[in-house]
Amino acid sequence: MNRRTVLETVKDIKSGKIRIKDLIQECIENIEKKDNTYNAFISLNKENAIDRAEKLQARLDAGEDIGILGGIPVAIKDNILVEGLKTTCGSKMLENYMAPYSATVINKLEENGAIIIGKTNMDEFAMGSTTKTSYYGETKNPVNIEYIPGGSSGGSATAIGTDMCMVSLGSDTGGSVRQPAAFCGLVGLKPTYGMVSRYGLVAYASSFDQIGPMGKTVEDVALTLQVIMGCDSKDSTSQFNLEKDYLSTLSKGVKGLKVGIPREFFTEDLEDSIKESVINAAKVLEDNGAIVEEINVGNTEYAVMAYYIIACAQASSNLARFDGVKYGYRSMNYESLGEMYDNTWKEGFGEEVRKRISLGEYVLSSGFYEEHYLKALKVRRLIWEEYEKHFEKYDLILSPVTKVSGIKLSDDVDSVKLYMDDLYTVSANLCGYPAISVPFGKNECGLPIGVQIMGKSFSEETILRAAFLLEQRNGD
Ligand code: GLN
Repeated sequence: MNRRTVLETVKDIKSGKIRIKDLIQECIENIEKKDNTYNAFISLNKENAIDRAEKLQARLDAGEDIGILGGIPVAIKDNILVEGLKTTCGSKMLENYMAPYSATVINKLEENGAIIIGKTNMDEFAMGSTTKTSYYGETKNPVNIEYIPGGSSGGSATAIGTDMCMVSLGSDTGGSVRQPAAFCGLVGLKPTYGMVSRYGLVAYASSFDQIGPMGKTVEDVALTLQVIMGCDSKDSTSQFNLEKDYLSTLSKGVKGLKVGIPREFFTEDLEDSIKESVINAAKVLEDNGAIVEEINVGNTEYAVMAYYIIACAQASSNLARFDGVKYGYRSMNYESLGEMYDNTWKEGFGEEVRKRISLGEYVLSSGFYEEHYLKALKVRRLIWEEYEKHFEKYDLILSPVTKVSGIKLSDDVDSVKLYMDDLYTVSANLCGYPAISVPFGKNECGLPIGVQIMGKSFSEETILRAAFLLEQRNGD
């Protein structure tokens, strides 16, 4: 499993070289061997996965087409509903919540032959960048177990990096697919807002949330995107159907493309090895015919603040449903209704989630609404206008993904510092743009570094092409 791409595997399954059940069993063995150490999964779908493998194999043997992901083991972040499996969102609040239906992305994966292997660990309600805020314990980085895998989709990254699945889904509200991909040496894509249906994704900040694929290669990610994207009548923000074949254009190169690099992103606290990786990536693009220029993007210093104000505001509204009545956990310790709400909240949510809900309620409360929330919305608009102006001239924007190339599990990083570290990723969410993190270079300890390529809305084809090129030249 550790050598094969999804396409190669699908081909080998079709030709009979690989039996689907063997592949699934290999994943399960890896999980049984390694997951005590790594803690990538919150729950497994073992019996169903084996059962499905047998059924798919029988269909294939009977000459049926089982789909472009036929037999491929996929792991799913535990905030995406899979019917019949628990969806905990990494929280005690939903410890026993059984998904009553499947998210649209799950139906699409299954229609195309994928096999859901389990649900992966994550920061509680996707709030975080470390996977350490999960109620179910921390997840370890597949490259070096002393490090965090990143977050909030840390389990989805580690599951791939340890060969417990071949591709996975995460959700990206402010960088949660791209940042763990960068920390774990994987490829992670946040699609354009509206490209992938959010139906069945537990909402964190609805105007930023997007489900995105993670994989070992750009090709794996492109293929998975092709399967999960598309208009969905159950998500009013999902966009018209773009019948695209990203695989056929991956190797088209970058000749003639114009790439901008924001000067503002080379901050003092950006690690040297990451700076070097971005500069080297720029050289590779240039050597291959792209025109690379430095650009100025105004207001980026406010991006993180605007993001956290809006994200917390939307979270406080979205998470109000977890009140001990409608869903999930209810405190046993109360004498009045008010006390039941209060204690459910205190016992069911972890500290980070409570902090963000409180912050969200604060910025939405009368008197502070104009001063904070409305202002953040205006800043969001200004940042979008800045980028739109650049996208009239440039096809792509190249940048770092993270400020540092690794964080030790034992490090107790201050949460405001972690927020500020989201500088490079949040703009794509503020503006709805697609952005990919692709491994490019390593730091002096051998930890992988990711670089980010962002494009205008619905330019996935172009960013995938550029990422594909960088992938071929990684390590040069
Ligand atoms: N680190 C960001 C946050 O905590 C991003 C989270 C995400 O994308 N889900 O909000």
